[in-house]
Amino acid sequence: MKYTSFLIHNFKQIPQMQMVSNEIVKSIEIVGSVLPFKTNNYVTENLINWNNVPDDPMFKLTFPQKEMLIPDDYKKMKSAIDSGADKQKIKEVANEIRLTLNPHPAGQLEHNVPTIDGEKLYGMQHKYRETVLFFPSQGQTCHAYCTFCFRWPQFVGMEDLKFASKEAELLVKYVKDHPEVTDVLFTGGDPLIMKTKHLETYIRPLLDADLPNLRHIRIGSKALGYWPYRFISDDDAAELLVLFEDIKRAGKHLAYMAHFNHPVELKGDVVAEAIKNILKTGAVIRTQSPVLKHINDSAEIWADMLKKQVELGCIPYYMFVARNTGAQHYFSIPLVEAWKLFKETYQSISGICRTLRGPSMSCLPGKVQILGVADAKDEKVMTFRMIQGRNPDWAARPFFAKYDDSAIWYTDLKPAFDETKFFFTDELNTILNSGKDENNFE
Ligand SMILES: *Cc1c(COP(=O)(O)O)cnc(C)c1O
Ligand code: SF4
Repeated sequence: MKYTSFLIHNFKQIPQMQMVSNEIVKSIEIVGSVLPFKTNNYVTENLINWNNVPDDPMFKLTFPQKEMLIPDDYKKMKSAIDSGADKQKIKEVANEIRLTLNPHPAGQLEHNVPTIDGEKLYGMQHKYRETVLFFPSQGQTCHAYCTFCFRWPQFVGMEDLKFASKEAELLVKYVKDHPEVTDVLFTGGDPLIMKTKHLETYIRPLLDADLPNLRHIRIGSKALGYWPYRFISDDDAAELLVLFEDIKRAGKHLAYMAHFNHPVELKGDVVAEAIKNILKTGAVIRTQSPVLKHINDSAEIWADMLKKQVELGCIPYYMFVARNTGAQHYFSIPLVEAWKLFKETYQSISGICRTLRGPSMSCLPGKVQILGVADAKDEKVMTFRMIQGRNPDWAARPFFAKYDDSAIWYTDLKPAFDETKFFFTDELNTILNSGKDENNFE
């Protein structure tokens, strides 16, 4: 299949747009002028059920929806467009709105950057001891954009992408100098948007350097969901699979971290064939997704998705909570609801599918998992556990917050039992104030 992408300037050419009401077309144009929009012919022809638009989950996952902007912002952009404003004016209005949408939820462009000899390594993040994140510069876009994505500012040109790196050598040096690092995670955007020959320039030097501490190479990608031909019929699909085999041959474990948000992405022969091709190389596929209102916020959908994944040979890994950025008001559900959904899902699947961890928030102190609601000392509390901690010693430690059924993020929580702080609060402040590790300010 030939790849055709659709952006805000040409989406009206998507043949199925004729089935969509003028009102919806207009709202795509308005919201798509503020938030990034990109889709492709695989998504429009295979994943979206156009008879079910506007309620279709894959439509909501890739097409901007009116309610993703608050009504005032929507009106503001609508009147700019209706008044025939030029490109420059539209961009100004768009940027005004974007700045109110917490475009830097992680403060990660400035704060999560490791150094070599005092020099900042833009293009890398190192928050948890074992794992370094690497952002290859050519991998900072995707085959289609998810409407919930927390990397949205870079897709609309608000970031100058200085945190993307061209420098594989520095990555090798960094991993060599840090024997505690066992994992390198290639991320983006989507690193598999890159031609194989570009991806190779990052991965081969890592293999050639023969670093004994490096055990796992991970690639985070949504290509199985949005463009499975990447592993079947793209010009350089065969070379990509050879690269995967060579990672295995070099004695490293390759983990393909697959992003799937809805079971529809796992149906059909194309994705099944793509998964088979990846597994044949010796790679393991682990899956992750946030819980998203309007798209997958039901235990039935999750159970269906996890069963399908396992049937195809993938291993469920993370259930995330929607991040505090962009159209969070549209996608978020309360933490208590996310836990109920997890519980119901967990209870309806076999142990083989229960490798799923979550729901987890990627936030200031670490990856924080909601374990549930409980009664303790005559108080109704929410219990949490750190899956990853900014300090590695925090991992697997439980803690308690006051019950709050409207809390949607870590910052909404208050310690239980009339305590004034959580077990990590003091140390976290020390780490952050020392300036030594001024990481994510989420
Ligand atoms: C999730 C995450 C990782 C990987 O954590 P695992 O639990 O090992 O999968 C690494 N770095 C950052 C910043 C993360 O958010
Ligand atoms: S594929 Fe990943 S990086 Fe790309 S838009 Fe979706 S969530 Fe964001």
